[in-house]
Amino acid sequence: TDEEILAIQADLKARGVKYCVGAYVDIHGVQKGKFVPIDHFLHFAHGSELYTGYALDGLGQGPSDDEISSVPDLDHIIQLPWQKEVAWMPADNAFQGKPYEVNTRVALKKQLAAAAEMGLGMNLGIECELFILKQEEDGSLAIPNSDDNLTKACYDVKRFMDRYEWIDKISTTINDLGWDLYSLDHEDANSQFEFDFQYADALTMCDRFIFFRYMAKQYAAEEGLIATFMPKPFADKTGTGAHFNMSMFDLESGENLFKRDPADDPRGLGISEMAYHFVGGILKHGPALCATFAPTVNSYKRLVRRGLMPYYSWAPVFNSFGRNNRTNSMRVPMGGGRVESRNADAACNPYLAAALALAAGLEGIREKIDPGQAQEDNLYELSHEELKERGISELPQTLKEAVAAFAGDPFVEQALGSELRQEFITYKSEEWLQYHQRVSQWEIEQYARLY
Ligand code: GLU
Ligand code: MG
Ligand code: MG
Repeated sequence: TDEEILAIQADLKARGVKYCVGAYVDIHGVQKGKFVPIDHFLHFAHGSELYTGYALDGLGQGPSDDEISSVPDLDHIIQLPWQKEVAWMPADNAFQGKPYEVNTRVALKKQLAAAAEMGLGMNLGIECELFILKQEEDGSLAIPNSDDNLTKACYDVKRFMDRYEWIDKISTTINDLGWDLYSLDHEDANSQFEFDFQYADALTMCDRFIFFRYMAKQYAAEEGLIATFMPKPFADKTGTGAHFNMSMFDLESGENLFKRDPADDPRGLGISEMAYHFVGGILKHGPALCATFAPTVNSYKRLVRRGLMPYYSWAPVFNSFGRNNRTNSMRVPMGGGRVESRNADAACNPYLAAALALAAGLEGIREKIDPGQAQEDNLYELSHEELKERGISELPQTLKEAVAAFAGDPFVEQALGSELRQEFITYKSEEWLQYHQRVSQWEIEQYARLY
């Protein structure tokens, strides 16, 4: 009600807020929004801000269309810790008075509504990995302490402490916001880190992931460094995942419906029949989902067995599932109760990826889709014949293949609607072409003198 909105406004003013911004995302998951002086909060809350859709990537508008508006979510306001005069909050788009389905947050809400009709809610935990790098004078990005280029930096205490100030700023903010940080580490690659905080309902977690990327970059800039969520900044180091840990809960009781005592689970993984069916749906649409989990040209440099690394990538190349086996795209982590999509990377649009994953999972639940055999071996080491015998297929190996799978799976249109589907195909096909049409340094080195 207007009274409630005015009460929020008064509270923000009392806390020194001068501007508010409702941040919605474009198709890439990059946040956009106008800044509104706090005196206009009531109008702002009612969607006063109008945008030329054509100025935004993937929001499906031509130069002569009506404006789209932003509808801020007042339940998730964050007073920016580094600029207390700004109140940030996530937002949706609306068009001609209705929720605008080309917006990916709206698309996720639509899938959550479909789940709610089945009495289900979705919980999501996203593992936040990222690199923090320095910019060299020539503009290139490098590991800050490159004089100390350890091959195995995973869990390294000294390298973790080298970035303590930056880590502590992020951690403090996470806890101030009540997200409940529970673990931090130095990841596998040099100057790569991971922050893990409690799972939440899927929409909230996606909002948090958007804010996390913003915050991590801000605090890195304060240290004169650059935080990047690019999936594979260095060919010879591990890439940056954003594993999606998913479970469904009973909307009435809140009970986790994926949990089962491993002793009662014939397959011993500790997940319910509903969870197996959810996995079945995810695998059925695995190649199409890969396009939204791993949405950039660069994403596919990460989804390799070893690539140019001396060790395994920890990133999946197969559309398969198993218990605790990190060579599957779908893993059931130790203890059960949730399933993990490992092909998701940190450049994903979390709303879009979660919307499509949920749609696939719900189809699996409705149609009781069997996920097949759990794979317990190191799949990276299996031969072509062995993989074929087990019926294991590879995930797309390039953005082009992933977009073809996305375009070729009729389920995508049911889940996302024809406009959002088409926008994604258009933008991602163009991204592939922009990349593929260029002649790289590798080609020059490989061919210029050979032929
Ligand atoms: N960084 C790895 C990736 O590319 C994941 C490492 C892990 O299992 O935490 O997904
Ligand atoms: Mg990790
Ligand atoms: Mg994980």
